[in-house]
Amino acid sequence: MKKIFVIILIFLITGTLAYTQSEKGKKVFISVDMEGITGVVHWEEVSRDGKDYDYFRKIMTKETNAAIEGALEAGATDILVRDSHGSARNILPDMLDRNAKLLRDWSGGFKSMMEGIDETFDAVIFIGYHAKAGTPNALLEHTMSGNVTDISINGVSLPEAGINALIAGYYDIPVVFLSGDLAICNQAKELFGEIETVAVKEGIGSSALNLHPEVARGKIREGVKKALLELDKYKPYKLAPPYTMVLKLKKEELVHEKSFYPGAERTGDWELSYKNENLMEVMKAFHRMR
Ligand SMILES: [Zn+2]
Repeated sequence: MKKIFVIILIFLITGTLAYTQSEKGKKVFISVDMEGITGVVHWEEVSRDGKDYDYFRKIMTKETNAAIEGALEAGATDILVRDSHGSARNILPDMLDRNAKLLRDWSGGFKSMMEGIDETFDAVIFIGYHAKAGTPNALLEHTMSGNVTDISINGVSLPEAGINALIAGYYDIPVVFLSGDLAICNQAKELFGEIETVAVKEGIGSSALNLHPEVARGKIREGVKKALLELDKYKPYKLAPPYTMVLKLKKEELVHEKSFYPGAERTGDWELSYKNENLMEVMKAFHRMR
């Protein structure tokens, strides 16, 4: 009698554990920029007063939906979309898939394009991303602001995807998927190793050969799904402390002005350096010095 009771109890406990594990869906963070959206080739198309801006923000929203659909198919139950471009008010709320929450506008905080991230997420996805400042055959390439020529941490020159992946890596979360132009896809693979990418366009000088937006959406949906189903494959992106950031800026008055940030040092005509043991302090410094 007692033995049967114990056996039943064990069944109940293991059953409940298996149930709660399968019930705990993935929590996914999607950061969406605009320069790397399908079709976009010109600043006018990503600027609020540009004539074609409203058209491309629709494409941006649909491309985000494709990522959400892929995530849902792979078992995501909690999805945060971070609008990460310009005003951070581009994605059309009522066109966005209802299974995601949308984080709009800038908080003023240093996490910037990664605002909203914390240790509770399982995976990070980048949509519409672009290459770092100075990349050839890349669309609308830059790094955070028009003032930055280059940012490196511990000798590694980083695009926005690299900076944002380090913030995710701080919380032990891997970046598993990126879409954008071919140049940023290549930079992401070089930096992170294992990552699923979809190049929606290929730069030829400052022109681009584009996929049809619908084809791009199909590939993004499949790519996100594939990545999230193989989550164990991906590692959080990390660099070893202590951290040395070297920032190269375009204007001399900015180099002078930003050299007053506590701990910053002018290390060249166009160059500032900042050292810290804590990655988040480096990110705060970058946010104020760029
Ligand atoms: Zn942008």
